[in-house]
Amino acid sequence: MSHNRYLIVGGGMTADAAVRGIRQVDPDGSIGLISREADPPYDRPPLTKGLWKGKPLESIWRKTQAAGADLHTGRTVQALDVEQRRVTDDQGVDYTYEKLLLATGGTPRRLPFGDEAILYYRTVADYRRLREMADRGRRFAVIGGGFIGSEIAAALAMNGKEVVMLFPEEGIGSRMFPRDLSRFLNAVYRKKGVAVLPETTAVGFAPRGEQWELGIKDAEGPREIVVDGIVAGIGIEPNTRLAEGAGLTIENGIVVDEYLRTSRPDIYAAGDAVSFFNPALGRRLRVEHEDNANTMGRLAGRNMAGRAERYDHLPFFYSDLFEWGYEAVGDLNPRLDLIADWETPNQKGVVYYLHEGRVRGVLLWNVWGQVEAARRLIAEPGPFRPEALKGRLPEAA
Ligand code: NAP
Repeated sequence: MSHNRYLIVGGGMTADAAVRGIRQVDPDGSIGLISREADPPYDRPPLTKGLWKGKPLESIWRKTQAAGADLHTGRTVQALDVEQRRVTDDQGVDYTYEKLLLATGGTPRRLPFGDEAILYYRTVADYRRLREMADRGRRFAVIGGGFIGSEIAAALAMNGKEVVMLFPEEGIGSRMFPRDLSRFLNAVYRKKGVAVLPETTAVGFAPRGEQWELGIKDAEGPREIVVDGIVAGIGIEPNTRLAEGAGLTIENGIVVDEYLRTSRPDIYAAGDAVSFFNPALGRRLRVEHEDNANTMGRLAGRNMAGRAERYDHLPFFYSDLFEWGYEAVGDLNPRLDLIADWETPNQKGVVYYLHEGRVRGVLLWNVWGQVEAARRLIAEPGPFRPEALKGRLPEAA
């Protein structure tokens, strides 16, 4: 049994940021952190980006212990007793707390087959495994056209691998990008040597000697591709089981108030698993990106240690796709009214996502340093006419 003034369940970026947030306010209170992963907290974005471009693995560690937390890694919390203020891990160890943070993140969705071979890429352990696979193998299938799929396909291709990328939608990133841009990305990936198979799903799987046979299906019917490795990024499910079991309110994630308190005021929650209200968009969001993890985690820590600061931050996110890159803020739903303001089509420009004349999202495509300006635009009541937005961003320095 151990007692901590602050106890954190989860070992990701959110958890590390919370430790630092607590320490900004309370230099002494004991902090315990329980994490399922055997590795201590680390920066996650390099797993699909920098580590494949020469960034050393040592650079990703967050050094959470040095920031003042006792780490209990390789342990999964199984039960939360809100009355006794106690959690129990999978080795039967109890931990009591005064304030608890649930930073439980998400678990990759899985296909109903292929567990023995398909790598659902999320952790540094997955990175190590894919590195080993890439050392041995030549040809890889990447399932999914979202963040993981697009970044890992590019990473493997840049490291000399043959890549077949398949996803159910029409184009890469088509859940976010305008149709033309998404199709342009298909062409970019093909030019870089990636075999891009849109409107294609993975339907089955079998071992074939040292290799794997992946059954796929498109409009023309089913067929097989033979590969040395299979990586999938088909989304995550928020880890809400613990919170649910403890009777906390869940609605597309663990529901928190503006101070990041759950329906029990001594229990906070932050990160990928959390549904929070964003005032600029006027609705609840659940965000699975780095800026949200860091900013929300830090604020949760500060509030656990006695502050009462509101989380009204609209997180940004970003990605690198070969030589292209972007930053984005707000709701990038391609079904909104889109106004594209290209300096050069698909190369550099800004796309505004509008609903009833209000800007709800901004895509800054190869346009940098404009995230704050985009946030201000989203907060403006409008209504905006298309002509008023053309040339609005980037703002002059
Ligand atoms: P994601 O971005 O939600 O993409 C999931 C993709 O998988 C979509 O293309 C989806 O297509 C497809 N898909 C769903 N079910 C499928 C199936 N049965 N067969 C084939 N494809 C299927 O999720 P992710 O790429 O797995 O990323 C996981 C998490 O990591 C996300 O939370 C993401 O935000 C985060 N992440 C963020 C970054 C970044 O911020 N740059 C980078 C890496 C990871 P449909 O749309 O048709 O369902």
